Amino acid sequence: MIALTVAEIAGATGGRVQGDPATTVTGTVTLDSRAVSAGDLFVAVPGERVDGHDYLGAAAGSGAVAALVTRPDPALTCVVVDDPVVALGRLAALVHGRLTGGGLRTLAITGSSGKTSTKDLLGQVLATAGPTVSPPGSYNNDIGLPLTVLSADEGTEFLVLEMGARGAGHIARLCRVARPQVGVVLNVGSAHLGEFGSPDGIAQAKGELVEALPEDGTAVLNADDPRVLGMASRTRARVVTTGRGEDAVVRAVDVTLDGSARPRFTLVTAGERHPVALRVVGEHQVANALSAAGAALAAGMAPEQVAGALSAAESRSRWRMEVARRDDGVTVVNDAYNANPESMRAALAALAGLPATRRIAVLGAMAELGADADAEHVRLGRDAVAAGIDVVIAVGPDAVGIAEGATDSGRRAGEESVHVPDRAAGLELLTELLRPGDVVLVKASRSYGLELLAADLLENA
Ligand code: ATP
Ligand code: MG
Repeated sequence: MIALTVAEIAGATGGRVQGDPATTVTGTVTLDSRAVSAGDLFVAVPGERVDGHDYLGAAAGSGAVAALVTRPDPALTCVVVDDPVVALGRLAALVHGRLTGGGLRTLAITGSSGKTSTKDLLGQVLATAGPTVSPPGSYNNDIGLPLTVLSADEGTEFLVLEMGARGAGHIARLCRVARPQVGVVLNVGSAHLGEFGSPDGIAQAKGELVEALPEDGTAVLNADDPRVLGMASRTRARVVTTGRGEDAVVRAVDVTLDGSARPRFTLVTAGERHPVALRVVGEHQVANALSAAGAALAAGMAPEQVAGALSAAESRSRWRMEVARRDDGVTVVNDAYNANPESMRAALAALAGLPATRRIAVLGAMAELGADADAEHVRLGRDAVAAGIDVVIAVGPDAVGIAEGATDSGRRAGEESVHVPDRAAGLELLTELLRPGDVVLVKASRSYGLELLAADLLENA
C-alpha cells in the first residue's frame, strides 16, 4: 500500500480520530489479526461468528499502528466510523484515485462464470509486461476488492480486479471504489438467478461495468454471448469483441484439446496469428483466454507476447479443475470450488473430453437457483448422461433431481447412476466402484463442501 497518515484515512472515510492523527500506516490493510505485521492498518469488521473488535489488542500486539473501528480501543490509534466496510471502500477509492493519477491501469472482470479463472490468466499475462497486482482467490466483493486495491502501490503498473454481483447496483458501487479503464464481461448465465429474477436482470447488473468505463477506456465483450455483445450500446468506451466467430476482433481458430483436455488454438487478431497452448483444463478456458487476451491487448501488449504468456500461465486457484492421478491409475478432477448450470456443463464437457475407461461425475447440488432449481437439477442429470458421462453419482438431499434426470435419460449409462445421502456414503460407493483408468469429476456449489470428498478420494487410494 502507499503510506497514509491516520489524518488522511479519517479524511477519506469521514471518521473521527482517537489517538495521534500523525500516525502513519506504512504496511498493509488487513481484517485478520493473525495476518497483521508491523505498520499495518487493522480493520475491525463485525462478522457472523467473530467480531474484529475483539482482536484489537492482538492486532496492536502484532504491530498494527492504527485501526478502522466502530468502537475505539486504547490499544492503538483508531479511526471511528459507522461502517468499517463502507470506510474500507472509501479508503480504497482515495488510494486508487492517487495511483491512477500516477499511471496505474485498472482492468476489471465480471461475468457469471470464469471471473477468477480469467483474472488468473490476465494477471499472469500482464505480469510479463509490468508489475501487476491481481488478488489471490476470488476477491470480488465489497471487502475483497478494496483490499486488492489497497495492496497496490506506486510501483504497480497493472491492477486486475474481479467484480461479482449479487444484485443491481453492486458492480456500479465497486466501480466507484476503483474506476477501471478496461472492463471485461465474460458471460451472462444463471449464477444467482434467484436474486436477479431473470437472465436479463443479470445482464443489466453485469453491464454496469461497461457503463462505468471512460471514453478512452475499452470494453472487452464476449461476442459469443448475445447478452454480453448487447452491452456494446451501453458504453462510451471503445469495444473489443472476443470469440470464435469471424466477426470478433480477438478470435480463436483451430481449437483442439490435448490428451489432458488442455485447449490449443490459434490466436487471431490485427492480422496476426499466434499459437496458444493453454496449461489450464477444459474447453471453457478458450473463452476465458480470449477475454484475457482482449484485455491485455487493450493495455498495450503485443499479440505475440500475449499468446506466449497465455501458454505459460498456470492454474492459480484451488479446487478448479485440479487434476490428480492416484497410484492405482484412477484420476480425480476436483472442480468443487463452486457450481452453476453453465459451469457444471463446462466441467462435464471437459470430463467427456478426457481419455478414460469410465467417466464418473460426482455432483452435488447447485445453490441459489430460485424457483427453477428442481427442474435445473433434473436437466443437469439428463445432460450429463447425454454429454457422455458413464456414471452420475448425485450427493446430498438437494441433489436428488440430478440422479433422477440421469436415470430418466433412457440411456444405459443412466441406469448405473445413483443418489447417495451424503459425502460418506459417496466415498463408500466410490471405493467399491473405482477401477484403474476411471476419471472422476467432483463438483457442487461451494456450500456443499465436496472438495472434502475429492480429498478423501485421493487419500483413500
Ligand atoms: P465466483 O462467482 O464463484 O467467484 P467465478 O466467476 O470466479 O466464480 P471461476 O472460479 O473462474 O468463476 O470458475 C468457476 C467454475 O466455472 C470453474 O470451476 C469452471 O467449471 C467454470 N467455468 C470457468 N470459466 C467458465 C466459462 N467461461 N464458462 C462456463 N463455465 C466456466
Ligand atoms: Mg471468483
